[in-house]
Parts: sequence; structure tokens; C-alpha cells
Amino acid sequence: MKTLLSFVIPCYRSELTVEKVIDEIIETVAHCADKYDYEIICVNDCSPDNVISVLKKSASGNKKIKVIDLAKNSGKHAALMAGYAEVSGSFVVNLDDDGQCPIDKLWDLLAPLYEGYDAVYAKYPHKKQSAFKNFGSKINSMMANYIINKPKDLYISNFSVYKRFVVDEMILYRNPYPYNTGLVLRATSKVTNVKMAERERSAGVGHYTFKKSLSLWINGFTSFSVKPLRIATFCGALTALIGFVSGVVTIINKILNPDMLAGYSSLMAVLLFVSGMIMLMLGMIGEYIGRIYICINNSPQYVVRDKINLCETSKEIKNDQ
Ligand code: UDP
Ligand code: MG
Repeated sequence: MKTLLSFVIPCYRSELTVEKVIDEIIETVAHCADKYDYEIICVNDCSPDNVISVLKKSASGNKKIKVIDLAKNSGKHAALMAGYAEVSGSFVVNLDDDGQCPIDKLWDLLAPLYEGYDAVYAKYPHKKQSAFKNFGSKINSMMANYIINKPKDLYISNFSVYKRFVVDEMILYRNPYPYNTGLVLRATSKVTNVKMAERERSAGVGHYTFKKSLSLWINGFTSFSVKPLRIATFCGALTALIGFVSGVVTIINKILNPDMLAGYSSLMAVLLFVSGMIMLMLGMIGEYIGRIYICINNSPQYVVRDKINLCETSKEIKNDQ
């Protein structure tokens, strides 16, 4: 029996490139047609260009190309989640719509899955991107290391493949603002990298604006961890401690040296102590609010407007629980 590969492509401003990506996938899988079959799930993330027409045209000629049209721009991660809700393959391949992912290296990427790994990310030695993006990736990676306990040497990229059970586990996450890396690492620890070179974009520019990158970092922070609140609590406790110690030092100094003017230092000590205590309390309240937020926030990750080549009843990941 053939193994079905499900390719999931979030599409945004890619009317000039996505067709080429789809063609290359079909061509690549054709090389191993005796072992593999494919489906390509393209998710239009409410792109302002005409990518939906391009996708509809491709889907009309090939039933294996499936299209999900989102009603609002929800970001790459939510678009991927919309695609994951529809996959039927044993392996799920994530890739970009701009031709940057080296699809011809697909078989190298799949190999570790047969060695017992559950998720594999392409590792690009020299990422071709702007200084801002490099900085953004670095921050993202540091954040992932600390907040979601990502292994330090694991490189996260857009070209990746997961076993089906990982995706089935990921779509159980119903809260808004999904953060894929967090969801993968929550599902499995058998994650590895395969080295390969990234391609240049075939057209256009990256769509991760500063605002989008920033909101992604914040998602990663607040959706998966209460660690930032713990940092606030820790800072509060530290400030309060400094205030307390300097208060004690001021009192001792005053006892040893009754002529000393203690007004300024005692004021500082009290100020530090009180503000530290307030920060501590805020951190603690924040911790509870954070937990409540993580548990109860159930606005939708994405809203599907239309589906093509997909069974209408199979669908809808229920975001309203
Ligand atoms: N993307 C999306 N919604 C957005 C922005 C981007 O679905 O609001 C998709 C985009 O179509 C692409 C992927 O996310 O498939 C990565 O985006 P991009 O190529 O701009 O980022 P980079 O490759 O620089 O990480
Ligand atoms: Mg890209």
C-alpha cells in the first residue's frame, strides 16, 4: 500500500509562486509514485492578492489539490492548523508558498521518520534573510529554548514533516493564537533536524512584518507558559529583598552613628520595599489570570469561508468546544 503524504501550504500573497510550488511537489512525489501518494492542502490566509483564483484553478484540474479559504487573515500558524484539521495522510509536510523550501530534498527530510523520529525540521546553515529577520529568528529561538523547553540545538524552520499522530494531537489545541513549535514539542520529544540549503524566494518579499513577528513572540510567551509572570514575581521579590536589606542597613547605621541623616536612604529603602511587594503581588495575580486565560480563552483560531475538493462534513475543527 502507498504511503499518503499530506502537504499543507499556508498561502499569503503568493499568486505568482504557489502554482510552481504545487507543480514541484507533484513532480517530486512522481519520482517515488510506487511508494507514495499525495494530497496538497492549500490554505488561503485571506490573502489580498488573487491567490485564491490560482488555487481554485489548480484544484479544478486535480482532486488531490484541496483548498481551504479562510475568512480572515489569521497568520501562518492558524492557517496551518486549518490545514491540519483536514489531513488524511500518514505524514504531514509543511512548506511555504514562495518556493523557498527545497522540495527536492523531501526524501532526506522523511528519512528520520523511519528511524523513529516523529517530527523533522530542515536546518538551513546560512539563512538568506534580512538582519531584522535574523534578529527576530534569534529572539524566537531563545524564547523557545527558555519558555517551551526547546532543545538548544534544534533549529526550527518552515520546511518540516510530522507523523500523523503529532498533527492529531496538535489540533486538539482549541485556544486562539496557536504556536506550532510549542504544540509539536508538547506532543513529542523525538524531533530532529536534517541539513539542507534554503532557496531564494522566487518572487515577492517576506510577509512577516515586525508587528506579525512581535505578535508571534507574544503568542509563544503567553499561550504556552506562565514563566514571564514568574519573572515578574521574581523581580518583585528581589526588589523587595533589596529594599528590606537596605532598610536594615540604614537602621544599623543610624544606631551606630546617631548623627547620620537617614532621611534619603530610609525613604529609598521603604520605596524599594513597597514597590517590590506591589510587583510581587501583581506577578502573583498575573499568574492566576494567566492560568485562567490559558484555560478559558476560546475565540476561534480561524474561520473557514469555503472549501474545495474537501468533504463538507469531515471538517470544522470545533473551536467553540
Ligand atoms: N503566511 C500566512 N499568513 C500571513 C503571513 C504569512 O499564511 O499572514 C504564510 C506565507 O504564505 C508562507 C509562510 O506563512 O507560506 C511563511 O511566510 P514568509 O515566506 O513570508 O516568511 P519566511 O519564509 O520569511 O519565514
Ligand atoms: Mg518564506
